[in-house]
Amino acid sequence: MSTTPDYPARAVVDLDAIRDNVRALRATAPTAQVMAVVKADAYGHGLAPSARAALAGGATWLGAAQSGEALAVRAAVGPGPRILTWLYAPGAPFADLVREDVDVAVAAPWALDEVADGARVVGRAARVHLKVDTGLGRNGITPQDLPAVLDRAAALQAEGALTVVGVMSHFALADEPDDPSVKMQTHVFEDTIRTVEAAGMSLEVRHIANSAATVTNPSSHYDLVRPGIAVYGLSPVPQLGAPGDFGLRPAMTLEARLATVKRVPAGHGVSYGHFYVTEQDTVLGVIPLGYGDGIPRHASGGSLGPGGPVLVGGAVDDVAAPGTGLGTARVLRIAGRVCMDQVIIDLGPYASEQAGDVVTLFGASDGLTRAGAPNAEDWARAAGTISYEIVTRLGARVPRVYV
Ligand code: PLP
Repeated sequence: MSTTPDYPARAVVDLDAIRDNVRALRATAPTAQVMAVVKADAYGHGLAPSARAALAGGATWLGAAQSGEALAVRAAVGPGPRILTWLYAPGAPFADLVREDVDVAVAAPWALDEVADGARVVGRAARVHLKVDTGLGRNGITPQDLPAVLDRAAALQAEGALTVVGVMSHFALADEPDDPSVKMQTHVFEDTIRTVEAAGMSLEVRHIANSAATVTNPSSHYDLVRPGIAVYGLSPVPQLGAPGDFGLRPAMTLEARLATVKRVPAGHGVSYGHFYVTEQDTVLGVIPLGYGDGIPRHASGGSLGPGGPVLVGGAVDDVAAPGTGLGTARVLRIAGRVCMDQVIIDLGPYASEQAGDVVTLFGASDGLTRAGAPNAEDWARAAGTISYEIVTRLGARVPRVYV
């Protein structure tokens, strides 16, 4: 039997890392429950396996943005765990959500009656969380609309169509915990909670903390924290620390096998636009991944920028900490333009790599500045974006493999 791998590229997802990251977050917020946010296909990691791994780590809630995602989560995990959906448009399948025991966040006045209509179809009260805009300026009930929403919610609750079980909000600058807006939003949040309770609603959960607030701001934990990016082991506050500083480890490793390795002379232009030109006789390696797979075109290299980093000649663990020597493994940068299906690296004149050899774009590492191997944050820096986008945009063409 051949031991040669047969994939051009793949994303290896370490489910134990997801489980352990949730455990770490539980320890960080010991007085709160954890809702693992699994929207957008679990930030690109795969919804069903990631959701189950998060539950194994002790998450008691799962968070989805869209209603369809929430129903898919229920199908994946079965009855029991609480699931919350918070983003939908009029006409959403509220009866299905109630039937499938999904909690629904109400973020606009119109939604209350549509949720209640769905609940009447099923014959059971919908569990509702009031999602309030405390200052983010995004989806959420404004303080001005709150009194009318509470009047209507109280009437629907008295009728048995819904029960208000939660109040939730979301920070604008959770990753800058000292920004005055954090204090201001907290103040509005607590005011809202008092108003809702004064209207006779007894709240089961109050929640506002995403990953960054969970790790930087204990007073934001309340009854429930809603981490997303930290569940997948990426740093929620890269300016304050690498994943390991928060007890996290990245769950996804993106690797590919070199499609072509070829020698070219000095002065050879590389990829569209020739933004990289070889300085010497050298060996080029072609990696079969491109923007069609979610590799950001802004991570192009040569005269266009630093280029996304690629680990060649070893596994992520083979790269020693800076200053202690790299062994056989080395980190190279994308040469020239990122194309739709491929990127190119300059392997250097003495390269021993062959077509089929495995290279790693990012993996379970604390990143170039720490352990020496690239991670999604390094790609984000090269592309002028955030690590969320690097993992979430990874395309469907890249198979997810679970270990
Ligand atoms: N809560 C809500 C309402 C969100 O929209 C998100 C994601 O943006 C999260 C929690 C999780 O955020 P993060 O990935 O920053 O932890």
